Amino acid sequence: MNKSTNSISEFHPDHHGYYGMFGGAFIPEMLYRNVEELRTQYLQHMNDASFQKDFQDLLRDFVGRPTPLFYAKRLSEKYGTQIWLKREDLCHTGAHKVNNTVGQILMAERLGKKRIIAETGAGQHGVATATVCALKGLECIVYMGEKDMQRQAPNVARMRMMGAKVVPATSGSKTLKDATNEAIRDWINHPEDTHYIIGSVVGPHPYPDMVARFQSVISEEIKWQLKDATGNEEPTHVIACVGGGSNAAGAFYHFLESVSVELIAVEAAGEGVDSGKSAATTALGTPGILHGSKSLLMQTADGQVVEPHSISAGLDYPGIGPLHAHLHTSKRGKYLHATDEEALEAASELSRTEGIIPALETAHAFAVLKKMQWKPSDRVVICLSGRGDKDLATYMEKLK
Ligand SMILES: *Cc1c(COP(=O)(O)O)cnc(C)c1O
Repeated sequence: MNKSTNSISEFHPDHHGYYGMFGGAFIPEMLYRNVEELRTQYLQHMNDASFQKDFQDLLRDFVGRPTPLFYAKRLSEKYGTQIWLKREDLCHTGAHKVNNTVGQILMAERLGKKRIIAETGAGQHGVATATVCALKGLECIVYMGEKDMQRQAPNVARMRMMGAKVVPATSGSKTLKDATNEAIRDWINHPEDTHYIIGSVVGPHPYPDMVARFQSVISEEIKWQLKDATGNEEPTHVIACVGGGSNAAGAFYHFLESVSVELIAVEAAGEGVDSGKSAATTALGTPGILHGSKSLLMQTADGQVVEPHSISAGLDYPGIGPLHAHLHTSKRGKYLHATDEEALEAASELSRTEGIIPALETAHAFAVLKKMQWKPSDRVVICLSGRGDKDLATYMEKLK
């Protein structure tokens, strides 16, 4: 049976966590109980009134939500259209990641877990995890690629200041993929007391769905904010960058079924899609299994994962979440990519045009403004996933 004929849940996973042909839970037996415990309980907890109250209270008073939907007047004039920026950079800790970690720390509490582990690329997810662990007084161990620890030193310092232990991952490209492998290894060794806070819409079911639901607050707010601003709750385009795909999933979530809303995801093309130094999974990937789920990933003909490359540590990942693999193959979403150079140029443009310095990851989303044709009547929403403070050293080196 073709699962995609089921229209209500076409973009939501079935009982086994499949979006079309992608998803599922491919896990070692040692993790079966943990993942099964989470799978059978996550919706029950999330739908519980006391959970929702705790979640909404923290989103408001700790994260600082709702985040503004800002009309970018000068950028709009430049591109001859109407552009709004969803200001996730104004979330506590400077990126959308904290929406998910706040939700998952409440989940860990409900599950009675005392020890928290996480992987991190740019360090934003590590910081967001260390933050909620400090808030709740829970032990926190963050795995981070050795290369990323160097290029994102301020975030390492922030995690340590909040009491987290940061463990370097020294294998492979010493980046996000390798940190994820280390975190999974830790989880296998501590299945009883540990909750693994995955930082994107990746991993075994139910993580992709759970993280998308926590991040869906982004599009929930866009709807009423755009309605207040224009009388219409639907944009014509939503643009977001994709590493694993959580800010994009959150920004798309409430528009998935609205076919008139064009969903545009932007991946990192590194030094060029065909340069051998890229992280553009939808352009280069084939179906395979990585970190617990079936999705598109960059691999050799015999299934070895290809080392990704991107100037931005948060997009330096050889896969994407199964929802995105499905949106791409079903053509519901449009998957584009931007090079390191194009992202740097876009970061500079946004800084000078609107007075907002974006994260390098986020800058990839802005780079597609140049790659599309816009109409004056378009209502374009760009997810401004994070602020650029952590990337200042790179900007100072590259933008002379
Ligand atoms: C981590 C990060 C990303 C990429 O992660 P997604 O799960 O794809 O959202 C994008 N932007 C910022 C600012 C990040 O910190």
